[in-house]
Amino acid sequence: MAIHKVGGEVDAPCTRCKLTLAHTILAMVGSKIARVRCNTCNGDHVYRAPPGVTDRPSTTATARATRAAATAAAKAEKVIISFEEQLAGKDSANAATYSPKDTYQVDQVIKHPTFGTGFVTGVRGDKVDITFRTETRTLVHGRGGPPTERPAFSPPNARATRPADKPLPPEATEAAAEPTPDEEAPAPSGD
Ligand SMILES: [Zn+2]
Repeated sequence: MAIHKVGGEVDAPCTRCKLTLAHTILAMVGSKIARVRCNTCNGDHVYRAPPGVTDRPSTTATARATRAAATAAAKAEKVIISFEEQLAGKDSANAATYSPKDTYQVDQVIKHPTFGTGFVTGVRGDKVDITFRTETRTLVHGRGGPPTERPAFSPPNARATRPADKPLPPEATEAAAEPTPDEEAPAPSGD
């Protein structure tokens, strides 16, 4: 953006010539041009911005926001590529379908009915961390017995794993108490 000063030139619509012409700046108010003289008819008049030039604030903030958004988009895309690349380096051909009864090891590829394909990133006792495309989940594994042998529980965070647009009907509270899917371990407060 050009910096104007008294004695400098600026294009402005001339009130007499009825054209946008070069004018000499006669007076400034702060950073704004106040009065100009037409170089063509030599007439003095109040400065008006040429058509199409509005006195809007600096676009720097907008440009910065656009750049930030582009950077964020690039980062988001990189996460997806990164997951695909990591998965590509693993034995996806022998991906195991997730079951809490099976025992898993790090780098093993798991197919989960809900979360899709993921790979094991950590094993801690009967818990296994599996990184899926959109999130990392801590699931249970190595639970050999049938699920009915274990006390049923309703994890406090179960609601968050369900679609928000499906509120549980009253009778579902009872139903949820019996065959709770064994896929998600309750987060222990102190491990
Ligand atoms: Zn003029």
